[in-house]
Amino acid sequence: MEILKATNLSKIYQTGESAVYALNDVSLTLDEGSFVAITGPSGSGKSTLLHLLSGLDKPTHGTVLYRDKDLYKYNDNQLSVLRRRRFGFVFQSYNLVKELTGWENMLLPIMLDSKKPDEAYLNRLVEMLGIGDRLSHLPGAMSGGQQQRFSIARALANKPAILFADEPTGNLDGKAGREVLTLLRTVSRELGITLVLVTHDMTVAEQADRIIRLRDGQIEHDSGVA
Ligand code: ADP
Ligand code: MG
Repeated sequence: MEILKATNLSKIYQTGESAVYALNDVSLTLDEGSFVAITGPSGSGKSTLLHLLSGLDKPTHGTVLYRDKDLYKYNDNQLSVLRRRRFGFVFQSYNLVKELTGWENMLLPIMLDSKKPDEAYLNRLVEMLGIGDRLSHLPGAMSGGQQQRFSIARALANKPAILFADEPTGNLDGKAGREVLTLLRTVSRELGITLVLVTHDMTVAEQADRIIRLRDGQIEHDSGVA
């Protein structure tokens, strides 16, 4: 089953006289529940692609359908509600609120939606991510790896359909980074969440169902296309 379909996506930045194609006519479809790794050199358009697929940024040309709903036909408010409910995001920076405990950070997206927390589900996340002993700590009292686990927990708190992660281990050392990537993979699979992961780590990328390699804003290779 198809969950996301991008057609002829381009993102052009106009700087003075010249136009930079951050993304140049990219089309792809993602299967529900799959794990897709996006790789490619720095500046090849990985973040741009992730931002367009997830409705964080508008394309210059092209469309993105999420379960047949055209993301860029929504108004800003509808799009932000859809993003908050159906998409989770993990970035290189952890972006936790410094004044809130780990548990409170986790609950934040649910509070924003004025929903009742599903305690059983949240406890399952805590268990899977191994963060039970840091729930009452402030982010400042956690290691980078622990902070990133909480940002994953926060991204998953609303039970998203798709988890987007953009180089989530960029600030972590090798061991902590590898652990976070393994967690992302296993937790997404266990919960049936589609995972779109930008990574330089080829060992991890090779565990994906599909690897899409970008170069100069275009798909250079896609293992999911025969
Ligand atoms: P990656 O994530 O693969 O490193 P990006 O998607 O961030 O690549 O960037 C792709 C290209 O688009 C790069 O050449 C980058 O310099 C350019 N770019 C990205 N954002 C902007 C912007 N806001 N203004 C101008 N150029 C940009
Ligand atoms: Mg990037």
